[in-house]
Amino acid sequence: MTLNVLGYAARSAQSPLAPLEFTRRDPRPDDVVLEVLYCGVCHSDLHQARNDWGISAYPVVPGHEVVGRVTSVGKDVTKFKPGDFAGIGCMVDSCRQCSPCRHGLEQYCEEGNVQTYNGVDRHDGLPTYGGYSNTIVASQDFVLRMPAGIDLQAAAPLLCAGITTWSPLRRWKIGQGSKVAVIGLGGLGHMALKLANALGADVTLFTRSANKEADARRLGAHHIVLSTDDAQVAAVKNQYDLIIDTVPYVHDINPYVPTLNLDGTLVFVGFLGDINPMLNTLSLILGRRSVAGSCIGGIAETQEMLDFCAQHGIASDIEMIKMRDINAAYERMLKSDVKYRFVIDMASLRA
Ligand code: NAP
Ligand code: ZN
Repeated sequence: MTLNVLGYAARSAQSPLAPLEFTRRDPRPDDVVLEVLYCGVCHSDLHQARNDWGISAYPVVPGHEVVGRVTSVGKDVTKFKPGDFAGIGCMVDSCRQCSPCRHGLEQYCEEGNVQTYNGVDRHDGLPTYGGYSNTIVASQDFVLRMPAGIDLQAAAPLLCAGITTWSPLRRWKIGQGSKVAVIGLGGLGHMALKLANALGADVTLFTRSANKEADARRLGAHHIVLSTDDAQVAAVKNQYDLIIDTVPYVHDINPYVPTLNLDGTLVFVGFLGDINPMLNTLSLILGRRSVAGSCIGGIAETQEMLDFCAQHGIASDIEMIKMRDINAAYERMLKSDVKYRFVIDMASLRA
């Protein structure tokens, strides 16, 4: 017996997303079944639908910012009961035994975490399919509790955009007195501004888009630097403890490194690939600066972030879309024309 599911899938790197009927496993003893209510649209969904990273196994049903209602649970499930609101982010399993897993860093599982979509289930070897669908199944240990009172639509993007920016903010101990800069004001960038501001940091946005200034201030930036204006970038040397770089495509980071303070770190969360142009080490050495990377966040840390957001009244700025408008939404995302996260209303799936 399996669950029949309707979703939207890319069938090749060139084809637009279109409806797909597929099956999911019947719940195992530790599984939770969710009726998907809302699913955020991450730039990673676009990368994977179009095979930008060369690892897509088609069909790809994207979606890793999933909020839903629990419809049934396996017999060993203790964390959830039918009717609960719950979330699933970027991963649905890991080995659970290696050192990173035992330390709540499942995203760095030494055997590789199992991605919510375009992954392979560790038990049955079947492909995983994401939240652009009406039903999803995952082990309770990878399902998040949605805090009471949180706006479920606006909370969906917290499950990737939120945690991916929260994790480096916590790792680099950002708080009162810290100076943080964010490169790129999209889904991740706008959450980085909100979260860094709420943690008490002085926050700067680097953007190519002069027209985003007013929004950036509303979202929590205290300063805006137009990254296309060399003079503006040169004027902010030796400032930041942490720069979170959310840009999805290859770009020159050499101008940003000297804006780090002594011991400051530029952390990539966006672009995957070879740095080009190459990084000149001079400003690393002269300022004991670092360039680093960070991948989503662990499950406990994701719950911590959701609870923090509920307490501080933080959620994503969203534009709700219908499932059939997903291809147009991808085109708008490529033009940086999203304020600041699309969220699919899954009730529109059959419309
Ligand atoms: P997004 O909403 O499209 O935002 C990206 C922003 O970067 C744009 O709004 C734009 O901001 C800027 N930008 C876009 N193209 C650029 C270019 N060619 N050069 C310079 N700036 C550019 O994307 P997102 O959903 O925030 O995702 C950002 C990246 O993070 C994606 O690559 C995604 O795959 C990745 N990601 C990584 C993780 C992780 O675990 N590390 C998790 C989730 C997502 P301005 O207009 O302000 O310049
Ligand atoms: Zn994502």
